[in-house]
Amino acid sequence: MPASSSRSPSAAPLAPNAVIGIVGGGQLGRMSAVAAAKLGFRAHILTQDPHGPAAQVAHQVTLGAYDDHKALDAFARAVDVITFEFENISADALDCLAQHCPVRPSGAILRISQDRLAEKTFLSDADIPLAPWMAVTDHASLHAAAETLGFPFILKTTRNGYDGKGQARVYEASQMEEAFASLAPHPLVAEGMVDFACEISVMVVRGTDGTTRCFAPGLNYHRDGILDLTLAPAPVQEETAQQAQALATAIAEKLDLIGILGVEMFIDRTGTLLVNEIAPRPHNSGHWTMDACPADQFDMHIRAVAGLPLPPALRHSDAAMKNLVGPDDMALWPDILATPGHIPHLYGKAEARAGRKMGHVNILFPYGSLPGALGVQDALGPLADKPETVDNDQ
Ligand code: AMP
Repeated sequence: MPASSSRSPSAAPLAPNAVIGIVGGGQLGRMSAVAAAKLGFRAHILTQDPHGPAAQVAHQVTLGAYDDHKALDAFARAVDVITFEFENISADALDCLAQHCPVRPSGAILRISQDRLAEKTFLSDADIPLAPWMAVTDHASLHAAAETLGFPFILKTTRNGYDGKGQARVYEASQMEEAFASLAPHPLVAEGMVDFACEISVMVVRGTDGTTRCFAPGLNYHRDGILDLTLAPAPVQEETAQQAQALATAIAEKLDLIGILGVEMFIDRTGTLLVNEIAPRPHNSGHWTMDACPADQFDMHIRAVAGLPLPPALRHSDAAMKNLVGPDDMALWPDILATPGHIPHLYGKAEARAGRKMGHVNILFPYGSLPGALGVQDALGPLADKPETVDNDQ
């Protein structure tokens, strides 16, 4: 695993019982709050939902909207450091918070990650390999993109796109205008369609002293645009895994990151890595670390945010992480609890709506023994997929 030290602002580590402010009340906030508690910190959540996943396990909650300056001010005055668990807050709000205490990762990083155009520009300038892309602001640039990228290409909104939303695939010229009109707001990003062999992600964390740590890449499968299954380590060539970690580390350093960052990548049919997007927060595809690593992604994130030293991102086991999404998966809960080897994590959401992430299950394998597709399906037991959704040939 790459580890390096580089220039970074130094900061005194937080003492036990210090308060970590977390903006956002979802499952990532919940698991971050639990990690904070394990390290002797108190989590204080800014959320609008007093009964949400994070509020249920937090030391304190400030109820308020993310643009409610009175709530933001009260929250910032009550905590020692601030982080966030989702990206749909305004970077301006983070800048306001930063007047009171450190915000990690910074509002500047959020500004990049929450705008696809800013993200692609930043990554291109940093010489990070990406799928070919162009900004599409109007009809002329739409036609220019089609000319340059060729068909098929994907149009994506620059903001608020997640789990495959805010995208339209354009296979031929006749679909272009409709796709352009269907997505808003403009500008959009046009991206060449990558004929990828697989999708992987790397969790990288960087501390206040500039130390970086990378977990092994995970191999990701999606269902209906939502992450379904992560296998770790991704069964890719060792050289590819190292390149993926080196790319994630380079991005973290270029961003001057403090905290954790998820980096999603494609591996194309030639074995080339292309970064798809970055998320400066714990990531669903890193949940396997919760049971397969001595210090998981949430422990590492909280350590970084609190200015504590970062242990190596070791893993003692290989793992499969299966998301529990919506009522169909939740109907299997009794079977999951009764299946030896299934390690369940539930997020405490009141209602299992379609497409809603309710929890996940980790399954461990001895280090170096991650089975192939059939073995994974076998281990998934009641959660096994229909065979056609698995294509584990990487
Ligand atoms: P995104 O919202 O960018 O994370 O994209 C959601 C999913 O769409 C990805 O996980 C891929 O499966 C697919 N996708 C996104 N961009 C591309 C691309 N340029 N080529 C092929 N598939 C893509």
